[in-house]
Amino acid sequence: MNPEDISPFGARRYHAWNDHVKERYGGRVQKVSIEAGFTCPNRDGSAGTGGCTFCNNDGFTPGYLERRQSITQQIDAGLDFLQRRYPGTQHYIAYFQSYSNTYGELGRLRACYEEALAHPKISGLAIGTRPDCLPTPVLDYLAQLAQDYIIELEIGVESCNDAVLAAVNRCHDFAASVDAIERAAARGLEITVHLMLGLPGESQESMLAGAQKISALPVRAVKLHQLQLVRGTALARQWQRDPISVPLLDEPACVKLLADFIERLSPAILLQRVGSEVPPSLKLAPQWNLRLSELAPRISAELARRGSWQGCRYKKMAPGC
Ligand code: SF4
Repeated sequence: MNPEDISPFGARRYHAWNDHVKERYGGRVQKVSIEAGFTCPNRDGSAGTGGCTFCNNDGFTPGYLERRQSITQQIDAGLDFLQRRYPGTQHYIAYFQSYSNTYGELGRLRACYEEALAHPKISGLAIGTRPDCLPTPVLDYLAQLAQDYIIELEIGVESCNDAVLAAVNRCHDFAASVDAIERAAARGLEITVHLMLGLPGESQESMLAGAQKISALPVRAVKLHQLQLVRGTALARQWQRDPISVPLLDEPACVKLLADFIERLSPAILLQRVGSEVPPSLKLAPQWNLRLSELAPRISAELARRGSWQGCRYKKMAPGC
């Protein structure tokens, strides 16, 4: 044990979202996933076609979702499942998760969000989207909702490296993410950023530089995802054709990378996820298959082994560096 080991985050060694929300809202907060029928500008041709090469939304959609149901029916179905699985939850928030959930006319967005908020068990919204789908009227409307409800804006940044974003057909650059985050934060919105670690073309140095770049932005929380190849995606097909072009992390390398990243992330930023799970039926590779409930303690154990914690290697830098 390092004699200077004074982790400010206890045994977890990172600033965990779950601990924060329990304190802030007086109990557990659970997200109820909603499929509202949105698409994405990287699929309908307005930004690109074919989508991001790693994307198959089925890989991130819970089994209880029935897409033909109304938003209210989906919330009821989700609550039926979640109340049995997580008894004692204090707050539920409707999670607009699949595709780009601010991509549409403002009137349609309002109808979807307000139907969810009208549900008596729903205390707020989490809204997943791309940085290029946040025009000023939408941000102003969300800022208005945030005065009365929990509103969490989840922005897919995925990488801070423009060459990597281009290679995965993301069809926006890092500057677009910086712009969206700054405009949303200027309206008081709380932002969670999604990052995918291990995309092809990304180096250890560029990913760790990403921790510094994200730390310089007004971001409330981060969700980290390790690259996993989902069946039916362009990246999975690329790997099958040419595995060398899509290097994959084995389990020890993944734990090490996540610990390295967390050491460089500002201690002020919450970690809402430190990895992700894809249903085994949809996952093509890598073969190792840790549940998130197993991966998170391994990251804490790696940080403990080093005598380190979130932010211990964080250096302040100017936004956009
Ligand atoms: S990851 Fe998001 S932005 Fe990319 S294709 Fe899928 S839904 Fe669209």
